[in-house]
Amino acid sequence: MITIKRFTFNAFQVNTYLLFDETKECIIVDAANYENYEDEELKNYIISEGLKPVMMLMTHCHIDHVLGSAFVEKTYGLGITMHKAGKVFLDNAISQASIYGFNLKEVAKPVSFVDEKDILKFGNSEIEILYTPGHADGSICLVNHKQEFVITGDVLFQESIGRTDLPTGDYDILKKNIITKLFMLGENYKVLPGHGPSTSIGHEAMNNPFI
Ligand SMILES: [Zn+2]
Ligand SMILES: [Zn+2]
Repeated sequence: MITIKRFTFNAFQVNTYLLFDETKECIIVDAANYENYEDEELKNYIISEGLKPVMMLMTHCHIDHVLGSAFVEKTYGLGITMHKAGKVFLDNAISQASIYGFNLKEVAKPVSFVDEKDILKFGNSEIEILYTPGHADGSICLVNHKQEFVITGDVLFQESIGRTDLPTGDYDILKKNIITKLFMLGENYKVLPGHGPSTSIGHEAMNNPFI
């Protein structure tokens, strides 16, 4: 049974998720912690729950989602697991950070690349990868079929979708991926987005004005 802990970090209010099960092995999704107190909040939670971080996974490498990657790398010895098409964003993260007013000195290194239909295992649990570009190249969604949830990064939000006006953004591709990959999961799947509140596939299929 996977427990999902959500933090909301940095000025862009990114949702960082910790996924862990009864083994206490834990995946950190989108390490967006930036301020010192956010680093502490993440670290203290991991200590208090007795968790063992085994993977740092990025839904995509826009700057607001990777601000805490160097902290996680230093603290837990974990590099980044991601889709390789997003590497250009990671390579440019430090210059991008300064444009958005963040003082970012380093980012973690990528250590593993995932692609469509890959299964990632941690503890007694698994996550399936969907490749869903359109907001940004390299964007992935993370699905757990047993508990019927999907972490969507900036692909799908509650009654909204990711921006498509940034480099590599493409509205038609994004819409197609949402319809053919996310809506196909079924209406019961809970949606855990990269920003804002949780929703469900059923709610979005009925009410999302962008699709
Ligand atoms: Zn983004
Ligand atoms: Zn974002």
